[in-house]
Amino acid sequence: MTVATAAMDDPSKLPKFRDVEKAPPTVNTVLIIIADAIDAKALCSTLEETKNGSFVTDWKTTLAAGLQRLEQGGIDAVMVDLSLPDCSGMETFDRLFAAAPRTPIMTLCLLDEDAAGVEMVEHGAWGYVAKASYASYLVAQSLRNIIQRSVAEEAVFIEKARAEITLNSISDAVIGTDMAGKVDYLNIAAEGMTGWTREEAKGRSVEEVMRIVDAATRQVIPNPVERVLKEDAPMGLAPGAILIRRDGSEAAIEDSAAPIHDSRGRIKGAVMVFHDVTAAQAMVLKMAHLAQHDFLTNLPNRVLLSDRLAQAIILAERRGTQLALLFLDLDHFKYINDSLGHETGDKLLQSVAQSLIGCVRRSDTVCRIGGDEFVVLMAEEGRAEDAAITADKIILALSTPHTINGHELIVTASIGISAYPGDGRDAETLLKNADTAMYQAKERGRGNFQFYKAEMNARAVERQAIESDLRRALLRQEFSLHYQPLVSLANRRITGAEALLRWESPSRGEMAPGMFVPIAEDSGLIVAIGRWVLREACAQTKKWHDLGLDPGIVSVNVSALEFRRKDFVDSVRLALLDTGLWPGAIQLEITESVLMNDVESSTRILGELKGLGVSIAVDDFGTGYSSLSYLSKFPIDVLKIDRSFINAVGNSESDSIIVSAVIAMGANLKQRVVAEGVEEVGQVAFLKAECCEEAQGFLFSRPLTSDRFAALLRSGITDEFM
Ligand code: C2E
Ligand code: MG
Ligand code: MG
Repeated sequence: MTVATAAMDDPSKLPKFRDVEKAPPTVNTVLIIIADAIDAKALCSTLEETKNGSFVTDWKTTLAAGLQRLEQGGIDAVMVDLSLPDCSGMETFDRLFAAAPRTPIMTLCLLDEDAAGVEMVEHGAWGYVAKASYASYLVAQSLRNIIQRSVAEEAVFIEKARAEITLNSISDAVIGTDMAGKVDYLNIAAEGMTGWTREEAKGRSVEEVMRIVDAATRQVIPNPVERVLKEDAPMGLAPGAILIRRDGSEAAIEDSAAPIHDSRGRIKGAVMVFHDVTAAQAMVLKMAHLAQHDFLTNLPNRVLLSDRLAQAIILAERRGTQLALLFLDLDHFKYINDSLGHETGDKLLQSVAQSLIGCVRRSDTVCRIGGDEFVVLMAEEGRAEDAAITADKIILALSTPHTINGHELIVTASIGISAYPGDGRDAETLLKNADTAMYQAKERGRGNFQFYKAEMNARAVERQAIESDLRRALLRQEFSLHYQPLVSLANRRITGAEALLRWESPSRGEMAPGMFVPIAEDSGLIVAIGRWVLREACAQTKKWHDLGLDPGIVSVNVSALEFRRKDFVDSVRLALLDTGLWPGAIQLEITESVLMNDVESSTRILGELKGLGVSIAVDDFGTGYSSLSYLSKFPIDVLKIDRSFINAVGNSESDSIIVSAVIAMGANLKQRVVAEGVEEVGQVAFLKAECCEEAQGFLFSRPLTSDRFAALLRSGITDEFM
């Protein structure tokens, strides 16, 4: 009895597919091609009568009929007699094999034809059955074995195809090696990354195909495959690895390697998976840079400043040296932003950043820590005077015009300086104290620098407190307006009034404007406050008119920040409209220096205001540095001579001369001239002699509440109001 299959010759070739083994018995269709009817019947019944009925048979008598049946599909195995009416011998087998190469074929042969059967097996048949064994139960068993084997092989085939497609679709590079570390596999990504094709790389050592060096030291890093094979454990690559491609180009990589085991757990090789992290690393660097730098100027930002300052302090402490911090704030930067737009403002900041860099040493750090605030860290400060020299240099450099979008802009800066260790031993204190000194510089008239002094702190704290109280003052209705009459010197009649802001602070009592208006200006609060003042003055004037009283022209003070705002003219128009006041009843007081700051835009704004019908006064005249030629071009109605000149009348000859000149000039320009701060009768005599027609001062009346001013309007100037 001879039943033989290729798998039976070498049982280890049979893949163990537990799924297949455990699956419920399936019914397999066997195609039987045999001419002899008796033989065929014997074979069919042997198969169909197996215990669990796992076979059905389909019998054909010619090769042609057999091939036709194969084509229809659903055949799990073929049993063929090699001597058929239409074909015989090897050709029969070859034609069947060509038609269904993955379907197991068993050949049928006569007894003692073992040699022929073996030949067929060598040719690709899965086994053979001798005629004498057709009735043997071994036929069914052998057939079942080879069908199982073919199913398992098909599963392995699909699995391999899936792995291959997957490995070639992923962006990670994969390299496989044998136990000697020789490359036996590269996926497409690995080919791209290394510059080696799979065929070229095969058999070469992994170190040759994948050269890795350390990014910092440029030393060759041993390939992790080596250790994986030695230690039989997965291994990662140390960070900072650089892959050198076949063409010498480089890529930062991250990788890991793992051993491969056979079914008995014996290590058979290693697989290395890696990917290019060059772009990711560049992104990380960029993000780190962005987090520490100002996007507009590319200067270090507050985060990096804190870092460098902390380091500089540690170093200075160790060496026993000093360091200085310059806190710089541009003066009136808000006006530039408001009047010329943010784009111009941004460019000016960039230009300022460049100027600053030009003023310091390479070892110093220039940072922008917000809006128009810059900090210079001078880490190698020998003496405090060096900081002063740098501050001077900066002020001078900034004052050369910055040409931006066709505008020639001159900026000044106020600078505060603090030094380690004298003014603070930690970063926070040093910064805070330099900031405080900067405020002091602002108060000293801007465009200068101040060294920090301990007593400044108390003032800074006070300022801060006033600012936070001011924020609430509008809501809590703590403001009011007082009115100080303007008087005709000829007949002491009231020609108008100046509305002056008063703040009754619950915690501080009555606050003079000099104490809080500058703080309101610096914090921007003046805009909201100014809007309230204008509205209140208009409403009050309208009320007086409605009562049949004539207050003359009522003046309202306008600060620089309000005047430069784009919506200022509109807010004046709206206040008049809402209160129903005749525009000719209102006058706006703008200081000389504000008008001179940007002559072009001043002329335009003044024109628009005049267009509304309000009149314009130049306040504190004489204290700025007006060019008279400009002044004559502005549409101005009134010049108010600053109190300091009137004060000096009779004491200082030169001031008296100025007063005379201003009065004469006003007369020439056809502007009314008002003398501010008249306190003495002697001053009145002088002014009258110089033909000044109007004055304002304690001599005639102090600023009064609206009620008392109404009473004054009814009674005229009496001593009661002085
Ligand atoms: P200013 O516009 O020059 O106002 C005149 C100041 O001189 C007022 O001080 C007034 O009380 C004072 N004064 C008038 N006559 C005499 C006098 O004979 N002798 C002396 N010693 N002083 C006299 P006040 O009310 O303290 O205001 C100071 C400054 O505050 C004002 O100067 C003005 O620049 C500002 N201010 C007042 N109200 C407002 C406001 O509503 N808005 C804005 N932006 N600033 C205001
Ligand atoms: Mg005024
Ligand atoms: Mg004034």
